[in-house]
Amino acid sequence: MADFLPYGRQSMAEDDIEAVVRVLRGDWLTTGPAVTRFEADLAGHTGGIPAVAVTSGTAALHVAYAAAGIGAGDEVVTSPMTFVATASTAALLGATVTFADLEPDTGNLDPAAAQAAVTPRTRVLAAVDYAGHPAELDRLRTIAHDAGALLLEDAAHSIGGAWRGRPVGSLADLTTFSFFPTKNLTTAEGGAVATPDEGLLTRAQRYRNHGLVRDRAEQRFPDEGGWHQEVHEFGLNYRLPDVLCALGSSQLRRIQEFKRRRAEIHARYDEGLAGIPAVRTPVTRDGADPMWHLYPLRVLEGRRRALFDHLRGAGIGVQVNYIPAYWHPVFADLGYRRGMCPNAERYYAEQLSLPLYPGLTDADVDRVIEEVRAFFGV
Ligand SMILES: *Cc1c(COP(=O)(O)O)cnc(C)c1O
Repeated sequence: MADFLPYGRQSMAEDDIEAVVRVLRGDWLTTGPAVTRFEADLAGHTGGIPAVAVTSGTAALHVAYAAAGIGAGDEVVTSPMTFVATASTAALLGATVTFADLEPDTGNLDPAAAQAAVTPRTRVLAAVDYAGHPAELDRLRTIAHDAGALLLEDAAHSIGGAWRGRPVGSLADLTTFSFFPTKNLTTAEGGAVATPDEGLLTRAQRYRNHGLVRDRAEQRFPDEGGWHQEVHEFGLNYRLPDVLCALGSSQLRRIQEFKRRRAEIHARYDEGLAGIPAVRTPVTRDGADPMWHLYPLRVLEGRRRALFDHLRGAGIGVQVNYIPAYWHPVFADLGYRRGMCPNAERYYAEQLSLPLYPGLTDADVDRVIEEVRAFFGV
């Protein structure tokens, strides 16, 4: 039996391991210089927009919504074709989440649907760069700003990508990243928030550190003593330790290599699967320079589940990304009904993520293609 191929996995080099070990031998395991360095390194990939490192992509979303001041009575408009955290972190802060439907081909938020979903209560429009293909960020930014809302870009899939020549991280008021092992680079667990707005940046930095205010000029009791720090708004401990930040900085050095290999594998799938009548390969919009995190194949004729089972049976770790977020019972129990976003539901019914990560060999890719072809008998 051939090796099991996961749908995604990390790429670890000796340099990465040495970077971590160096921190373990040093003075700072957390809150030290490797954090500052990782944040500066991230800014090198966001067109210079500053970043705040946090403990996960979920924490990044929570911090971003908190920095935006989301609370009870506010609305957040987002895509249902995402990991539940894009919506759940806004709901945890008390916001009402509205799901807007997708463009049927990219799986990204449809600007017309987003426009129809915003109201005077909308505080954040949260787009997702599904599979690593940037959303229609210029149109979505205009829709958000015209509604008096902020544009948040959940870029868990798309760090290293660009839209109309501008890097992901420089396109929205708040951009969030995830560094989970299946993502485009990893810190084991980790994430970040990037923002060009100084006020949002300060609020994000504070929220990840209990809300503590250290700047005496801003303290209410500045003469308390040299030890003093005080909380003005509640926050959490979402600090990413130096150990993991060092891994992130080391991984970032290979991001272009990762991007190139992911694009190569993507193109090999496109070519190998072309002409199979019952599947659709992913599209790329003019202006998009994707960082392909997923290879989202579409399987027609109601055969997605059978193909999933066939490939899993052949040791190929396909995945489905994602069940529409409002299908989760937590949303169903709040009254969200199936049928709300028909394009998203159809996308979900057809979607199958094929293995995609830098360590996949051409022979691995060809094995996946052959298994798909064998299933359809072509
Ligand atoms: C992975 C992911 C998240 C959550 O990131 P974690 O680091 O796993 O917490 C959020 N949104 C999207 C679109 C993701 O893919």
